[in-house]
Amino acid sequence: MILILEGIFVGINSKILSNLYKQRVKQILKEDTLLVKLIAERNPRVKYQELFSNNELRFTIVDLEGKIIFDSKKTEEEEKRMDNHLQRLEIQEAIKNSESFTVRSSDTLHKMMAYYAILVRDINGEEYVLRTSNDYSKEVLQIREFLLIQILFFIILNYVIHFFYKNYIKRDFYNKIEKMRCFLKSGEMEKVNYSKDEYWLFQFWDILKEWQEKNLNNISRLEKERRVLSEVLHSVDLFIGLLNVNGSFIVKNTSLKYIIDPYEDDYLGAVKHIEIIKHIKDGMSSKKDIREELYIQNLKKYFLLTMKYLEFSNRYIITIKDITSTREMVEVQRSFINNVSHELKTPLTNIKGYLIALEDCPDSMKTKFLKTIKSNVERLENIVLDFLNISKIENSNLVNISQIGVEKLKKELLDILDKKIEEKGAEVEFNFALTDNRDYLKIDFEKISMILKNLIENGIIYNMNKNPRVMVDVLEKGDRYLIQVKDNGMGIPIYEQDKIFERFYRIDQARTSNLGGTGLGLSIVKTLVDKCGGDLTIDSQEHIGTTFSFYILK
Ligand code: ADP
Repeated sequence: MILILEGIFVGINSKILSNLYKQRVKQILKEDTLLVKLIAERNPRVKYQELFSNNELRFTIVDLEGKIIFDSKKTEEEEKRMDNHLQRLEIQEAIKNSESFTVRSSDTLHKMMAYYAILVRDINGEEYVLRTSNDYSKEVLQIREFLLIQILFFIILNYVIHFFYKNYIKRDFYNKIEKMRCFLKSGEMEKVNYSKDEYWLFQFWDILKEWQEKNLNNISRLEKERRVLSEVLHSVDLFIGLLNVNGSFIVKNTSLKYIIDPYEDDYLGAVKHIEIIKHIKDGMSSKKDIREELYIQNLKKYFLLTMKYLEFSNRYIITIKDITSTREMVEVQRSFINNVSHELKTPLTNIKGYLIALEDCPDSMKTKFLKTIKSNVERLENIVLDFLNISKIENSNLVNISQIGVEKLKKELLDILDKKIEEKGAEVEFNFALTDNRDYLKIDFEKISMILKNLIENGIIYNMNKNPRVMVDVLEKGDRYLIQVKDNGMGIPIYEQDKIFERFYRIDQARTSNLGGTGLGLSIVKTLVDKCGGDLTIDSQEHIGTTFSFYILK
């Protein structure tokens, strides 16, 4: 670059110099020409031939046809032998423009010459060209010398700069860097030893500290943001991963470890299920957004996979969510609606059938039909009441604990179950073993009475004993109560004990169809016990009896 600039500089310089030379020579020749014109006009040829014989200046008179009339450096004989000069550039321009100046190589003298020519008209009105010329080769030589000097000057200058840079600036620069390094390595105390001449080091140190402080602030802010993001990323219960175009995870959380290995970066190694790999592969090749629900056979689970191509960063964001419970809930709701319709349909069909039959049946049958209609209406009522209870329980998570008198609870239950107890001639016993013989409980009255009502009722209904008995034991144990409901009824076969808590599940339709149950009671009990912080267990033997036990928190 420097060499190019220097070259341009030398070129411009030479051009200016050669122009200056030309101007100067032109001026001199012009003055000489005017002088020669005067002399030539006033003196005879012999006289000015004599005058110019020893003069370096050469002048020539050429007529308008290009014939040499006079040349101050030639004899008359020589003049006659000279070429026609009409084609000479300066002659042609002088004829055309009255004046001309050219520098060219002379055909006659074979060297660089400067020519100045003017169109002159003598006293007789005859026109001819008066041309003066001077040796220009000296000037050319001078210009060349000057050019050479300049080139030499720049070569030396370049060498000096290079030498200076190598031996001084560069060394000085490295020295300074070394000094900075030592200065930065030294402790605050040692820095005091640096002289004031090295004040720049302290200034540099201040700038560095300021810059470092800013950087540290930025770093700690970024670190905080990174931590928050990472916390968010790892706390969500869905898998989130950022995949680059080569199929490597740049970022991913550790959710759903059973389908994505958190320690593997390559997606082919990390993803453990071919169904997911297939979709990611498709998404990578098509770069189209993906939203797909997948069922993974060996896990028996449903997943929602989404994949989006981020054009700006040329990456893919992948999320995978386990939607099994949502899918199951939808399934449960669907089967619940089916069951509800089915449960309502049977008593309604019965009622309708018996109502039609009532119209023309003999009076003797009417009472029987009305009784059947009544029992079906009661069954409908039970179902509706249970539905209402279910929706009430599911919509409230609150546990409303208060002090409830033992007698109040007993009375409430006996009042509700009065009819059932009487029908079956059953006996219901309550035993309270409370700390300090207290006569109250700290319970959610509504929930506990609903639990006990269902369990006692089942103990009475599913009881073919001659003397049906149900015992309710309440035992206070620290911050909780252990509640047990025992009966001497028909018992529950061991293989049914898991299923009886499912909604609408009833053991052996034949065994229970006449007993008016809805199959919802125990599922309501289980949900309520869960809400009270307890766990319902069952201990039952066929033909001996059943005990339901659970703890609840006070
Ligand atoms: P239901 O409204 O039909 O009583 P539940 O959910 O309360 O529905 O009970 C489900 C099934 O469990 C009943 O159909 C019955 O066969 C059985 N069952 C419940 N409690 C008892 C019990 N104490 N003794 C014997 N079988 C019982």
